[in-house]
Amino acid sequence: MEPQVLVVEDDATIGRSLEQALQAQGYQVTLAANGTSARRAFARLVPDLVVLDLGLPDMDGVDLCRELRASAPAVSILVLTARQEEIDVVVGLDAGANDYVTKPFRLAELLARVRVHLRRPNARVLLRSVVGDLEIDIDARRAWAGDRELALRPREFDLLALLASEAGRAVTRERIMDECWDAHWHGSTKTLDVHISQLRAKLAEGAGTQRPTIVVLRRVGYRLDVP
Ligand code: CA
Repeated sequence: MEPQVLVVEDDATIGRSLEQALQAQGYQVTLAANGTSARRAFARLVPDLVVLDLGLPDMDGVDLCRELRASAPAVSILVLTARQEEIDVVVGLDAGANDYVTKPFRLAELLARVRVHLRRPNARVLLRSVVGDLEIDIDARRAWAGDRELALRPREFDLLALLASEAGRAVTRERIMDECWDAHWHGSTKTLDVHISQLRAKLAEGAGTQRPTIVVLRRVGYRLDVP
């Protein structure tokens, strides 16, 4: 059974791109463009996870969040917000969201968070994921190899977070380009190879005995292996 994801987003462009990206991950996705249809879809589906934009045309997203949480204590709610000041209310206080992403967001980051929450229902906000001696803090956007922190550029961090979330499995070049670069990227994917080789060099400098390595799969993509 594929996880059910309900996306509540009134911006049609963002809604569609989220729908496509989540479907590509193998999730069953339902898109609701306002609070009323979100309520209806929620009652019908009982989804595993809700991606909820707080700025809705017909109701206050924070109220809706509170309502969904009250009716389904186990559902994971990931909030999208353009306003930093809403975050404390939504995650910290009583509205009951599990996590948030601020707009504009990187698709790779959102998908990484969705994966974690589907794997660990009721996780309160992802703090760290650990692969061998590699430790990644998605919230802080920091990574460590053993006890040494890696100095990663934003794109390298996204790449590493994606590969780590699929550790041991191949990740195709197409998927990496979709999630870590702009979906409308028309340039050469050579830039991907450049970023990978820089990331590999940084991983090789790290401390720790169970050092993960990035394996190149010719014409396919990459895989993060842990010894
Ligand atoms: Ca909106």
